[in-house]
Amino acid sequence: MKTGIFGGTFDPVHLGHLAAANEVRFRLGLDKVVFVPAGQPWQKAGRAITAGEHRLAMLAAATASNPFFEVSRVELDRPGPTYTIDTLAELEEAGELHLIVGADALLGLTTWRQWQDVVRRARVVAVTRPGTALPEGLAGLLPFPFTLVGSAGVAISSTECRERAAAGLPLSYLVPDAVVTYIEQHRLYQEGGA
Ligand code: ATP
Ligand code: MG
Repeated sequence: MKTGIFGGTFDPVHLGHLAAANEVRFRLGLDKVVFVPAGQPWQKAGRAITAGEHRLAMLAAATASNPFFEVSRVELDRPGPTYTIDTLAELEEAGELHLIVGADALLGLTTWRQWQDVVRRARVVAVTRPGTALPEGLAGLLPFPFTLVGSAGVAISSTECRERAAAGLPLSYLVPDAVVTYIEQHRLYQEGGA
């Protein structure tokens, strides 16, 4: 069993996440990709994160039509700050673990708690991301092995989605329709919203 683990804040999940996960699943022949929304992301402590249950519900709606995609609430149910190393330990039975990271996350991976154990427990799969240039010869610069997957390149970020929602601009075709509906129904990312 080859399992992709795709962690993030997913506030909200967007088509960049879904296209990246799908590309990695296809290229590596993974049996599934598990999306893992972070509970309390320690690297984003300065910003109010949308309630985990909302982020989880949006992920569930966004991935429902893809039999290869799953969503896990392990990080939401774990008290305290979220560390990937704990998640990998918890998902150990899921077989051969492939940790999926976008290019920006790849470059920051050695700042993660117990990163040496992280790269020991999982194979790192990095996926290209528009806006993050990867230097030539990166494989020789990073102190751990990784596989680089070139994706079609979807230049969307959750930050941009939140800003657009707050400004009343459309999110259609940037996030799945079900996520557009969810954001509207729950008035997320608006002044005084959830
Ligand atoms: P924010 O703007 O709030 O940081 P984000 O769009 O970067 O949101 P995250 O939840 O921070 O999304 O990212 C989760 C994972 O998805 C990270 O590994 C990140 O690199 C990756 N990722 C996010 N957007 C893309 C994209 N458009 N293409 C490829 N990878 C992406
Ligand atoms: Mg990010």
